[in-house]
Amino acid sequence: MLLIINKNADKNEITTIIEKINKLGFEANEINELNYHILGIIGDTSKIDPGIFEVYKAIDKVMVVQEPYKKANRLFHPINTVIDVNNVKIGSNEICIIAGPCSVESKTQILTISEEVKKAGAKFLRGGAFKPRTSPYSFQGLKDEGLKLLIYAKEQTHLPIVTEIMSTDYLDLYVEHVDIIQVGARNMQNYELLKQLGKTNKPILLKRGLSSTIEELLMAAEYILLEGNEKVILCERGIRTFENYTRNTLDLSAIPAIKKLSHLPVIVDPSHATGRWWMVEPMALASIAAGADGLIIEVHNDPENALCDGNQSIKPEKFQQLMEKLKLIANAVGRDM
Ligand code: PEP
Ligand code: MN
Repeated sequence: MLLIINKNADKNEITTIIEKINKLGFEANEINELNYHILGIIGDTSKIDPGIFEVYKAIDKVMVVQEPYKKANRLFHPINTVIDVNNVKIGSNEICIIAGPCSVESKTQILTISEEVKKAGAKFLRGGAFKPRTSPYSFQGLKDEGLKLLIYAKEQTHLPIVTEIMSTDYLDLYVEHVDIIQVGARNMQNYELLKQLGKTNKPILLKRGLSSTIEELLMAAEYILLEGNEKVILCERGIRTFENYTRNTLDLSAIPAIKKLSHLPVIVDPSHATGRWWMVEPMALASIAAGADGLIIEVHNDPENALCDGNQSIKPEKFQQLMEKLKLIANAVGRDM
């Protein structure tokens, strides 16, 4: 439920209203920005009679929010959320590019790729240490060693790092060293993991589940937000459809849909969405044209011999060319890069 506060509202009356909300057993979320002054009531408010708030002079309007997600809802937070990570403002007018290999394979590999993507203008280095593979016989990542190598690459190139967490066993280590903690598509509905991440203040990159609806993605974000962590970045990475030419089907329409429904930043992963390296460029360009705040792209210096996802990884030269084209599209749609 949303209480729209009028411009000349009496502060004491607002305090009284907040006390009333608390007495009913709910939390009041006050947002007072530019043209908005809102009190959001978080939780299942279906039993509250809106009339009990309509009596106050301070309240212009009482709105019942139909959607099950509240904190992620744009109604509760009309202005875009901007997440500042090492001075890169994700969700601002500036497009943010994350790039790197699917998985960390060796010291030379991660260092070489890190230097290359940095040179081309990437703001973050990605690389999996713990890999969620469909087959237990496939390469599972270098695990602890992979994380150490990623941290080493960060020290050398000063690119902040993004990497996937699969269980809370390593949470402290991730909180200490990782700049953006990724939750993979397969773990989007691992609610215990989401709740624990919600207790940290680390930016979380939440990927859309393999067959999840937009509402399910926003509900997953709600688990993190509700614990107090407001730094959630959503990622469209393709969904499962009947089409099998591509690895997944990139749901470009999810970008404007999420932007309308939520205030959270949205980025796109054209690599996992298509599974084909030559489709990464057109889909990356289309994503920025459609309003994405950034991209996460797999880049490998030797894709033919990559231990994971070589067929969807672009080479550093190609990445550099893509970055030039992305700037043109970004500028054409009024964004900076
Ligand atoms: C990844 O980014 O390495 C990954 C495994 O992606 P997803 O969870 O989207 O499949
Ligand atoms: Mn991958």
